[in-house]
Formats: sequence, C-alpha cells, structure tokens
Amino acid sequence: VKERGGSAISALTSDDHERLSRKSLIEKRLIHALDRHNLHLLYQPQVNLKTGKVESVEALVRWEDSEIGIVTPDELIPIAEENGMINEIGLYVLESVCTQLKDWQNRGIDMKVSINTSIREFRDKDMAKIFLEQIQLNGCDPSSLAIEITERFALEAEAERSIVKQMQQLNAAGISFSLDDFGTGYAAFRYMLMLPITNLKIDRSIIKSITKQEKMQKLIKGMIQFGKSLDLQVTAEGVETNEQLELLRAMDCDLIQGYISGYPMTAADLEKWLKVSETT
Ligand code: C2E
Ligand code: CA
Ligand code: CA
Ligand code: CA
Repeated sequence: VKERGGSAISALTSDDHERLSRKSLIEKRLIHALDRHNLHLLYQPQVNLKTGKVESVEALVRWEDSEIGIVTPDELIPIAEENGMINEIGLYVLESVCTQLKDWQNRGIDMKVSINTSIREFRDKDMAKIFLEQIQLNGCDPSSLAIEITERFALEAEAERSIVKQMQQLNAAGISFSLDDFGTGYAAFRYMLMLPITNLKIDRSIIKSITKQEKMQKLIKGMIQFGKSLDLQVTAEGVETNEQLELLRAMDCDLIQGYISGYPMTAADLEKWLKVSETT
C-alpha cells in the first residue's frame, strides 16, 4: 500500500482494489481449504521417447473453492509464496505424493513422481529433514521422488549455503532434481556445477515455437545437446502436436510431457490410462 499521508487510500486505482480484494479472498479461502484438505493433485505423464513408456509423472496441485471457483496454480502459488502458505501447500503435496507412491509400490505399479517446490520452502524450513521424515513415515522409495526447481530458484539457491546443503542431503538420500522452466531467461550456468541436478525441462514457451523457424529449431537442438553434454536427461514440456513430437524425437530429446501424450489426471484415471497405453 502506498504511503502518502492521508491520501494513501485514494492513491490506489480501482484495479488495485480489485486485485487486493481478490488476493485477500484467496488467502482467506486457502486457510479454509488447507484445514479441510480441499486441495487435490493431478498427475501428468512424462513419456520416454525411446521406449514409449511412462516412467514418471509430475504432480500438479489443483484447487476448486466452493465460493471462488477454480483458482489456477499460476494465480495461487505466487500468493502462497508471498504469504508463506506455500509451506502448508508443499507439505500437503509431499504427504499426498508419498502416500500415493507407497500405494503404487504395494500394487506393483512402477512409477516416479516429481514435485514442484518453491525456494521459500527451503528458506523457511529444513526440507531435507521434512522429505526424509515423510519418506520414512510412508515407507516409500526415495529414488521414486524427484524435486523440480525453477531456473530462478537455482540461480538464488546457488548462493545460499543452507539450501545447497539441503539439496545435497536430499540427493544423497536418492532423490533427484530437475531444472524446470529451462530457457525462460535466467540462464547463468554456474548453478549447474553447484547443484545436484540430473534433468533439464525445456519450458513450454520455447517448445511452442519449435515449428516456426529453422533458427528456433537449431536453438532447441542446441539446448538438448547442452543438457546431454552435461549428462542430464532432457524433457520437453508442453508438447501439443505430432509435428513438435517428431521434431523433438529427431533431436534426440529424452522425455516429453504435454497434452499430446497425456493431460494432468487423477491417480485413478492415470492408472486406467496406463493400462490402455500399455496395450496400444
Ligand atoms: P510447471 O511446473 O511448468 O507445470 C507444467 C504446467 O504446464 C502445468 O500447468 C500443466 O498443466 C501445463 N501443461 C502441461 N502440458 C501442457 C501442454 O501440452 N500445453 C499447455 N498449454 N499446458 C501444458 P498448471 O498445472 O496450471 O501449473 C502451473 C504452474 O504452477 C506449474 O508450472 C508450477 O510452476 C506451479 N505449480 C503447480 N503445482 C505446484 C505445486 O504443487 N507446488 C508449487 N510450488 N508449484 C506448483
Ligand atoms: Ca514443474
Ligand atoms: Ca515447467
Ligand atoms: Ca512453467
């Protein structure tokens, strides 16, 4: 809120007011949702282009509130990061994923799950401890868990000893790290040396333009080769068309995640989908 003596209120435009009231409504309802376990998770398949198999899925949070309706993660997560509620959301996601993993393990379904995290979680808490506690509590296999961190996260984390240490502890326990949203503008590759990253996820905004120009294709091919030269697995995000898929296959991309192969779905739908895709 702007500070200008008595005119502080009038300095806000009606747009500002709308945004602030929506934000406080979301904050209020989110407390309610977290209390009542009203969030849920969808899982989106990541397909190995060589084998055609789904070895892993990404867990994506969903929230539909009875008063405000659907709040997308793109709106929810930044608000939760700002007010600290991301800690509760993250714990909910981790608990749900560990429970799901254990259930799949018990039923012989071999699946890895990747989880999105925010840097604030690693600043506010000891994530190494929290992850290892949840893993032990649920008896799930740590090597079935991957943590996705954004490029911005990686850039900031590199300079924060306690975060690097947490990541190293998690990595030593068998949990892998993916670099998410690669290519969205934070490229400063030193963090590749500092952080235990094993997978590179090329952002959807880049994949989207793959069919446009030859130069763009060369750029993407270069990004894939860059990943491979560092022994990273490379995932293309947001693949929607066959044309994109075939170009990425020709470029030797390892994994794809996008609507072409599967939408984010509930765990139950994912199991049905896996059975069908096995037989086709
Ligand atoms: P992200 O990590 O980059 O996740 C991929 C997003 O792309 C998802 O959006 C997914 O539904 C969407 N997507 C996947 N394939 C396609 C495609 O072929 N075309 C198009 N147009 N979109 C596709 P979603 O679920 O809305 O999530 C948005 C962002 O919110 C995520 O981006 C992630 O940064 C954040 N997020 C989601 N769940 C969590 C969570 O549990 N914790 C944290 N910290 N962040 C989360
Ligand atoms: Ca992600
Ligand atoms: Ca991403
Ligand atoms: Ca993204």
